[in-house]
Amino acid sequence: MFIKRSQLSTVQHSRACGHFTYIYPVISRRSRGLSIGVNLNLDNRCNYDCVYCEVDRGVVGSETVVDPDSFGQELYQILADIKSQPHGLEVRDVTFAGNGEPMAVRSLARCIDLASGILDALGFTQTPVVVITNGTFLHRRWGLQALQSLDAAGGEVWIKLDAGDQEAMTRINGTHFPLQRLEENIFDASRILPVTLQSMFMKRWGQPPAPESVGHYLACLKRLIEGGALISKVQVYTVARQPRSSHITALDATTLGEIACRIRRETGLSVEVFA
Ligand code: SF4
Repeated sequence: MFIKRSQLSTVQHSRACGHFTYIYPVISRRSRGLSIGVNLNLDNRCNYDCVYCEVDRGVVGSETVVDPDSFGQELYQILADIKSQPHGLEVRDVTFAGNGEPMAVRSLARCIDLASGILDALGFTQTPVVVITNGTFLHRRWGLQALQSLDAAGGEVWIKLDAGDQEAMTRINGTHFPLQRLEENIFDASRILPVTLQSMFMKRWGQPPAPESVGHYLACLKRLIEGGALISKVQVYTVARQPRSSHITALDATTLGEIACRIRRETGLSVEVFA
């Protein structure tokens, strides 16, 4: 299955790609190019219910059990096809994200090991494995194993942090997962490998985030830094595609840039902005 540039887009991230079950290639803003997406959440479920989520939970998933070997075969096939194209696109990363929380999948570590081995075998030595997670399983045995596999693979973990107070987190992420536990998970994960934080800022009912809400978020970042968390960067972004919730819309580039400046100024962290 050859991928043409015309088949890929930053505004259309369909999980359906050819006959693949687990793989969906996309042009990703945050990866800055072709990203081989991996969806292990075939049941279409997530333990969060973010207001900006684009996954249609009305569509009932097909399966719940992941077959790592089938995943490995699909990944090998798509990467071998890309490799065989004389002027093929550069593969920026292999990213576990998908229709739910990848760290909820108990075989994630095995899949990371497979992905790393396949990338090496096909000569994609500069292509990292990335896991995008909401951070809620990092204190579980299988979450820890996934982090250790990522570290061994020279990979990256990108952890969602959208709020710095429990009320905002519950409202934005549709969860009662304790913010304090999430902070501890981020801290513990960073002891295994440096973490990238992903933070979504958006308009609700046409209004930007309240200044006190941004203040709570900054205080949370400062708590993490003061606690010794190793944060390689913060990705500040806004909605790129219309979420299911129609009252959620993109934040303008100026306001997003101002938030990014505050993060840099008040925490000293490196910040990438995706307006
Ligand atoms: S964590 Fe990701 S998949 Fe889950 S609800 Fe939020 S945006 Fe959707």
